Amino acid sequence: MANYLASIFGTEQDKVNCSFYYKIGACRHGDRCSRKHVKPSYSQTILLPNMYQNPAYDPKSKMSAAQLQIHFDNFYEDFWCEMIKYGLIEEVVVCDNNNDHLIGNVYARFKYEEDAQTACDALNSRWYGGRPIYCELSPVTDFREACCRLNSGEGCVRGGFCNFIHRKEPTPELERELDMETRKWLKERGRDPRSESRSPSPGAANARR
Ligand SMILES: [Zn+2]
Ligand SMILES: [Zn+2]
Repeated sequence: MANYLASIFGTEQDKVNCSFYYKIGACRHGDRCSRKHVKPSYSQTILLPNMYQNPAYDPKSKMSAAQLQIHFDNFYEDFWCEMIKYGLIEEVVVCDNNNDHLIGNVYARFKYEEDAQTACDALNSRWYGGRPIYCELSPVTDFREACCRLNSGEGCVRGGFCNFIHRKEPTPELERELDMETRKWLKERGRDPRSESRSPSPGAANARR
């Protein structure tokens, strides 16, 4: 029985735990959901709900598509560079959705759980763009499961109101640049002792002497 319950945890068959919260970190019923939203006590992923103020959804904004992309790229770069102060990040995901529970949601997945915790604690006392930041640990581990499969390719008919994440992509040039910057930063910072057990290299051991 325990095995059965573990195998259906967070799936549609699970009548107790909400599959949307478990997979996507947010569900349209919010606190009124009839199923449980179990907040993780540790996780590699943090969620900053409603953090990216997308001018595309501001009726007063008259930005062109190119200006919107620049606005987003600036935010993405800013956010990435802030996150890397807390530790190595593996992924940043920004929602392009327009529904209340996903609009502007920003996720960052760190390599190490303790870095996610440090970031979460620190960010909750900070402000961004004149608004206090709210940050929580998120159960999302696999963004392939959290993102809408139709978002890329032929497109999803639900558009911004889809309950799966529609990911907003930075320009490929920016992504390459951030990737290079991150490598440089890693080199400057030196080897993380936590990675030693995972990939031992004789060079690193010598360098410490
Ligand atoms: Zn729910
Ligand atoms: Zn969709």
